[in-house]
Amino acid sequence: MTDKHHPFLPSASPATWLGVMGGGQLGRMFAHAAQKMGYKVAVLEPERDCPAGHAADHLLCADYTDAAALTELAEQCVAVTTEFENVPALSLQSLSEKTFVAPSAACVSIAQDRMEEKRFFTECAPLSGVLPAPHQVIACAADVDAIPDSLLPGILKTVRMGYDGKGQVRVRTHDEVRTAFAGMNGVACVLEKMLPLAYEISVLAARGADRQSVVYPIAENVHRDGILFTTTVPSPNITPDCSAKAQAAALAIIGELGYVGVLCIEFFVLQDGSLVVNEMAPRPHNSGHYTIDACITSQFAQQVRAMARLPLGDVRQHSPAAMLNILGDSWFDRNTDQLREPAWDRVLALPGANLHLYGKDDPRRGRKMGHVTFVAPTLPEAQANLKTACGILGIDA
Ligand code: ATP
Ligand code: MG
Repeated sequence: MTDKHHPFLPSASPATWLGVMGGGQLGRMFAHAAQKMGYKVAVLEPERDCPAGHAADHLLCADYTDAAALTELAEQCVAVTTEFENVPALSLQSLSEKTFVAPSAACVSIAQDRMEEKRFFTECAPLSGVLPAPHQVIACAADVDAIPDSLLPGILKTVRMGYDGKGQVRVRTHDEVRTAFAGMNGVACVLEKMLPLAYEISVLAARGADRQSVVYPIAENVHRDGILFTTTVPSPNITPDCSAKAQAAALAIIGELGYVGVLCIEFFVLQDGSLVVNEMAPRPHNSGHYTIDACITSQFAQQVRAMARLPLGDVRQHSPAAMLNILGDSWFDRNTDQLREPAWDRVLALPGANLHLYGKDDPRRGRKMGHVTFVAPTLPEAQANLKTACGILGIDA
């Protein structure tokens, strides 16, 4: 299973395998990038039928905390990463005793906890120049009384395990906070002031084991029902000043974390043009999928490089890009509600279409099944093709 002459690893390296915690689509696209560079990929995931499992060279079908499976993964792989945010940090910690883990358990732990994350962002503010939204922790019902009126209306978010808008309730009054908190089954929450957003952006950055960092162009994101709907790059709305500020903030944050790997940071741009940092994902991100088709080095290839302790790749974008997420909804006929395959031939007939499907054979409404990235000589052309694809896929543009 080992190849001592692998061109990308120092000759002392004992193996050519890279490991991934998690079997979702991010792990699948990571596997494709790693295999393209000659690596073999092992995936640890409890579900046998999973997107990354179909692409991996070896699927370790076990719980994320299974000690024997973790040992096997660590012994097989020269480096291990994670493809989902809520991987047990203790598992990463135990892997790190036997192999190189990137990003580290400590970095992932911060991103898993909204309060830790906000504390970190606040500490970093003198360097990064950005602050999180005004907020307050709600750990027990009595904390609701102490909420200042200035935080309302707001959004109550669970401190842990939130994603795709899950674990969030919009609240206007103290009473609504009380009711919403009671509905969260006693888990700790944070109340964030509702901010007047102009638009949302994300900044993808990567840092190598050699401490060099790179930052991708600003991606502008539109969410629908809490799920990413489209990503457009370059951001149509951002000013050069705000763009430079967001990129500098991302570089400051990734450096302060001492992070190794790909990190995605979400920001809000407010109606007055100011920048607020929202949250970070310690892995490649849905809003970075466009890099596969539009950049010299994709976010997944970048993750491979960081893990394998290679120099990071060129982040330059060679084509304007517009990415559309494809949810299970597109499999349901709008008139009859019957399940049927979307008209891929018509989507692929559009100029600059790059279709990515994740190999999930159970389309459900709201489930991410794939995405399509349109690249074009100009951004308006890419956006126009995305709009046409929406029509074909039964999505309101
Ligand atoms: P993700 O899938 O990105 O992990 P999430 O469920 O963790 O999402 P957030 O990104 O914090 O949650 O919030 C989801 C969306 O809700 C944001 O993209 C934004 O549109 C809106 N939102 C969140 N916080 C605020 C805020 N303080 N003010 C205004 N809108 C907000
Ligand atoms: Mg988010």
